[in-house]
Amino acid sequence: QAKVQGKNRFVVHTSELSDEMIAESVLEMELRHAIEHNEFVLHYQPQIHNVSGKLIGFEALIRWQHPRLGLLAPGHFIKLAEENGLITQIGEWVVNEACLQNKKWQDAGMTPVKMSVNLSTQQFLTRNLISFVEEVLERTGLDPKYLVVEITENMAMEYNYSILVLKQLKELGVGISIDDFGTGYSSLNYLKNFPIDYIKIDKSFVSELMKSENDAIIVVAIITLAHNLDLDVIAEGVETEEQLDFLKSHNCDITQGFLFSKPLPAAEIENVYL
Ligand code: C2E
Ligand code: MG
Ligand code: MG
Ligand code: MG
Repeated sequence: QAKVQGKNRFVVHTSELSDEMIAESVLEMELRHAIEHNEFVLHYQPQIHNVSGKLIGFEALIRWQHPRLGLLAPGHFIKLAEENGLITQIGEWVVNEACLQNKKWQDAGMTPVKMSVNLSTQQFLTRNLISFVEEVLERTGLDPKYLVVEITENMAMEYNYSILVLKQLKELGVGISIDDFGTGYSSLNYLKNFPIDYIKIDKSFVSELMKSENDAIIVVAIITLAHNLDLDVIAEGVETEEQLDFLKSHNCDITQGFLFSKPLPAAEIENVYL
């Protein structure tokens, strides 16, 4: 089609677009292949309790060991997977793998800690989410108190349904964390009504903490708000001692970030913590 119309700039643009679409459809095919051939891996990032300095949990973060492109961060494929619906299958693999790994570590003698997994919007809205999580916990034998699900503010938009799902997760004994707090459609109303345990301060606030007075004010306000609601606060993306000192001096509970560790493959976690 593009060839027939010759060198018209508009047509070139259209053909570039269709190249992109081809690339995306290739990636989509490869994504389906990846699910079948187990090309995903989880990396685990330690979360450290600020007062005791002890490890209290890990966040499981997905990577794709792509046969051509190498190890891909979620930024390269999660959005596509959400668009084509593959995210639910991928997300189920994540929950299963993270629970299995945590149980394995506990069985190998590691001090029991929590494992956080990120849920996508679609996965959160999937009708069988509760029965799926319950089944995974039963099958892996992981005590539900060692699983935490991270959701974002935007997922909670289906207000009444979200409350229902979160209450059922709570009844299972699973912890609930609001991820990237402060970047989405926040409604303070849900902080009051949702059965959550943790708020994660988004790393965009943390990274500007020492440079921007406004970010520092927001961070302090989030910590105060969370504590008044009896929630624990996790700061993500902590990279410097100065940020950590600031967060500690304002009673932030838990730290996650490159300062302590990047997300690491299971084998490297075992070298440090087992
Ligand atoms: P997130 O849940 O907010 O995860 C934190 C991201 O910040 C991770 O990026 C982590 O590697 C990065 N990070 C941690 N500490 C630091 C730091 O000190 N400095 C900086 N600059 N970055 C830090 P990652 O692994 O690329 O994941 C990006 C996002 O992809 C996640 O953000 C989450 O929204 C999504 N994601 C990751 N794994 C999954 C998954 O299994 N399922 C779903 N649905 N989404 C996932
Ligand atoms: Mg997260
Ligand atoms: Mg986060
Ligand atoms: Mg984030």
